[in-house]
Amino acid sequence: MRTEVFKFGGSSVGSLEKIRHVAELIKEQKNNIDNLVVVVSAMQGKTDELLDMAKFFTETPQERELDLLLSSGERISSSLLAIALDSLECRAISMTGRQIGMKTDNTHTRARIKSIRTDKIWQNLKKGNVVVVAGFQGIDEYGDVTTLGRGGSDTSAVAIAAALEADRCVIYTDVAGVYTADPRIVKNASILSEISYDEMMELASLGAKVLQIRSVEMAKRFNVDVVVKSTFEPNLPGTVVSKEGDMENKVVSGVTGDKNQARITLLGVADKPGVAASIFKKLADGKIVVDMIVQNISDKGLTDISFTVPADEIERAKQIISPLAEELNISEIKADKDVAKVSVVGVGMRNHYGVASDMFNVLAGEGINIIAITTSEIKISCLIEERYFELALRALHNKFMGEK
Ligand code: ADP
Ligand code: ASP
Ligand code: MG
Repeated sequence: MRTEVFKFGGSSVGSLEKIRHVAELIKEQKNNIDNLVVVVSAMQGKTDELLDMAKFFTETPQERELDLLLSSGERISSSLLAIALDSLECRAISMTGRQIGMKTDNTHTRARIKSIRTDKIWQNLKKGNVVVVAGFQGIDEYGDVTTLGRGGSDTSAVAIAAALEADRCVIYTDVAGVYTADPRIVKNASILSEISYDEMMELASLGAKVLQIRSVEMAKRFNVDVVVKSTFEPNLPGTVVSKEGDMENKVVSGVTGDKNQARITLLGVADKPGVAASIFKKLADGKIVVDMIVQNISDKGLTDISFTVPADEIERAKQIISPLAEELNISEIKADKDVAKVSVVGVGMRNHYGVASDMFNVLAGEGINIIAITTSEIKISCLIEERYFELALRALHNKFMGEK
């Protein structure tokens, strides 16, 4: 018996015509698959539209209400897809996060999945239905609707594939797979036929939104084979994300970036033990993810500390730090959204030298100043001015991936 999970992103179900195209694709594929679950995102732009509606009233809507509102986007697309399938005489039933028992913690707007009740899904599969699940949503212990963070339908799909022990999870999207760089920015980017979970996790966490990072973490944990394919060219092979990845082990397998970064600089901070600890503890308590941190050499017992946070967390981060200003002698808190992070990723870097210096040279050659640097075993990231983002990505791609 073959069991598969498909996921269609917002652009794949972006119009009624596209939903019909997806229904036709599913009907055809169903011939080879005994049990098929299809997870859908909201129609393209819908989640943003709902978010804007909430922001008409306040910049900081209550997160519980936001989750109920945003989850409605996926209800619309899942029920429409089930109706479209039915019209093609392909039996289908749509189910919400609640109906499949997708239990999460209660961190509204970025909840984590705890468990899924597969019995309800199996009941409907056994009756011969394609089960169409509204992605991105679950319920918490109080029965309130939660959502899984932007791009979270990828994670719904992989979690369902893991729970059903599916043969594979196919992520259908608007590009033909995972590329060496975002193909919309770097025109000569090439498609990767395979990539390892670890490399894909780095790419996703550094800004390649083709897969939500949590979906890759989950795929790695439960050993789910993930294939990324194009909805519009489904006959192309796409990219396989799995344990081994590409055995060729290229030094750099991809170049990526993230514009959604902001830098906070604390000026005149007292340079004494425990200061950084108290600043970053407060931010951690506020569930703010801090990425790059730079502390300058101190001058007369005072220093400057800069760090980056996701751009949409900048106000919250400032609010958290402001009360510390007096105690830690911070003379000024500066915030800057016009920064971006560019990164090169590759497992081959583990036993290769010179990648960092090549990266710095490429940026210098384009006249781009480096504001901060972070590295791990398999990636190097530089923070730069946002206006150079596209230029930097193209130049780095040319250097490391060669002109193709
Ligand atoms: P979906 O609506 O299907 O979830 P997303 O917009 O979330 O699609 O993700 C697909 C997009 O990810 C592509 O259109 C592409 O612009 C972008 N992207 C960024 N980096 C990469 C990469 N390395 N490979 C492929 N796509 C990438
Ligand atoms: N609709 C949600 C979003 O736009 C989830 C998803 O598309 O995966 O972020
Ligand atoms: Mg997505």
